[in-house]
Amino acid sequence: MSATLVPVLPGITQIRGGIVNCYLIADADGLVLIDAGMPADERRILQAIDASGWALRDLRLILITHADGDHVGCAARLQAAARAAGGAARLCVPAGEAASLAAGKPSRELRAHGMLKVALQLAASFFAFKPLACDATLADGELLPVLDGLQVLNTPGHTPGHCSFYAGAQRLLFAGDAFKNFGGRLGVSDGMNTWDERAALHSAVRLCALAPDVLCMGHGPVVRDAAPAMQRVVTAHKLRVETG
Ligand SMILES: [Zn+2]
Repeated sequence: MSATLVPVLPGITQIRGGIVNCYLIADADGLVLIDAGMPADERRILQAIDASGWALRDLRLILITHADGDHVGCAARLQAAARAAGGAARLCVPAGEAASLAAGKPSRELRAHGMLKVALQLAASFFAFKPLACDATLADGELLPVLDGLQVLNTPGHTPGHCSFYAGAQRLLFAGDAFKNFGGRLGVSDGMNTWDERAALHSAVRLCALAPDVLCMGHGPVVRDAAPAMQRVVTAHKLRVETG
């Protein structure tokens, strides 16, 4: 595989885009895409589909973790292309993010002030996305027919309705932006792009309790033997949040 397509487990590929990852699952009855990258990542996603042995028409589900432009950029185009090829490509989004996605807007404002806020407003067009027509919303605890059962977990904090996905049989967690691994530095969502840091911490604790083996995130490399590493960063983060 190329450097942009990284095997995670058999049938599961991390697609490393320009700034964000998405994940392709080649399941028993077709393909599932978790998050949909930036518009510029479309070619890489199509390469991953080609490399999977399936075709675009076999894309049966597109699952979205949250309403940020870097996670939904290719959703509409891929869905349209898969449907034109005769596929289903159902777009399923977290219930708490659905209204924002339908409106083509992020679900929270960045917590920035002064010149930084001005700079971010200028950069916002880079992350802009068009309103998305969703086929279904995802509820906490719902078990999706993917990988012998893929559980939807509400993990608010990064955004109000952010959700993660957990495949229990593989002990494989898709955490969206609830965790991040920029430069190989694992962390909990925090800072100006985080809607509510206490909620983010609470969600990180919830994900930690699953004790996953493999942690897949929107940003940065996959982490293996993930539970101890997650526990360490959650404990350190908790101290920072609670002591202000
Ligand atoms: Zn992101």
